[in-house]
Amino acid sequence: MMRATQTKTAPKHSKLLIIGSGPAGYTAAIYASRSALNPVLIEGPQPGGQLTITTEVENWPGDASVQGPDLMLRMGNHARHVGAEIIADYIVDVDLTQRPFVATGDMGDRYTADSLIIATGANARWLGLESETRYRGQGVSACATCDGFFFRGRVCAVVGGGNTAVEDALHLANFASAVYLIHRRDSLRADKTNQARLFAHPKIKVIWNAEVAEVLGNGSKVTGVQLNHPLTGEQSTLTIDGLFVAIGHDPATSLFKDQLAMDPDGYILVTPGSTATSVPGVFAAGDVQDKHFRQAVVSAGMGCMAALEAERYLIDQAAKAVLVETVSA
Ligand SMILES: Cc1cc2nc3c(=O)[nH]c(=O)nc-3n(C[C@H](O)[C@H](O)[C@H](O)COP(=O)(O)OP(=O)(O)OC[C@H]3O[C@@H](n4cnc5c(N)ncnc54)[C@H](O)[C@@H]3O)c2cc1C
Repeated sequence: MMRATQTKTAPKHSKLLIIGSGPAGYTAAIYASRSALNPVLIEGPQPGGQLTITTEVENWPGDASVQGPDLMLRMGNHARHVGAEIIADYIVDVDLTQRPFVATGDMGDRYTADSLIIATGANARWLGLESETRYRGQGVSACATCDGFFFRGRVCAVVGGGNTAVEDALHLANFASAVYLIHRRDSLRADKTNQARLFAHPKIKVIWNAEVAEVLGNGSKVTGVQLNHPLTGEQSTLTIDGLFVAIGHDPATSLFKDQLAMDPDGYILVTPGSTATSVPGVFAAGDVQDKHFRQAVVSAGMGCMAALEAERYLIDQAAKAVLVETVSA
């Protein structure tokens, strides 16, 4: 693996800088390399991204089952194979007001680039219980689309009250024998159509005014949850096989605050049908701009789009530069 070695006085320049090494970043690097853009990709704090912290992935086309870390290793090797330069660094500052754009790594190394793809992903919010961390991947998940299929004929619970929680409960009801939606209030934030579907579903039961106090397990898998009922001061135990935490995600966008247009939740806003951000030459791909799907294949698709759009942007910029030279000659 290449470490950042350039001196602090000599920034490393590239036509395209990619920040992030999840499916979006690696796919962008593969496409950009094959377009001869010689991209530089900064891996960040989690080389390979979110899939490196899961086990089986059963929805990556072409692989009936693949271990998440293996898949990401293969993607990284593919990007290297076609010529992407992959650097182990963590970007702590960016300046999108200058041309070329400037990014600074945590050891002070500087990267300048004519175009930029942001693929820094998002992180699920967790309840913060030690028992929840212990059973992650053993019955605790933050992704019903990813892991629901593993709970065929089992009993599941979803924690949360927004659209994602309701959609997760409805999705799980396709496989599970019963689904509980645990919500700490007495009404849901989810939109009314989703709520109507939820309340009408024969397999789903809502547990109101309840908080998960502990995840219970037998050492190797989840067996239930202990619930607090603040209104009555009581506690109860619910027997379940899977707990899905759906209390939101935090996109990794603090670096770009006040430099790029974002929605109120901090997701980078892009032109519909494109990965173009509010700054020309800056593109955003994957979970960092996608609050709806949050899937590896979607992120990879956006990585492809971003690389192709960066290429077109660079071609346009070069054509404009030639025009200016011709006019002024
Ligand atoms: C436990 C779990 C299981 C999942 N299972 C599945 C599944 O089965 N199928 C599926 O399709 N999806 C699954 N997902 C969702 C999938 O992992 C994500 O949708 C996908 O990884 C998003 O890809 P991404 O490239 O947008 O970002 P991420 O994978 O989140 O990668 C973000 C990258 O950005 C880098 N980064 C962040 N900040 C910086 C910075 N300041 N400087 C430099 N780099 C930075 C990180 O190091 C990381 O490499 C799962 C997610 C989790 C958490």
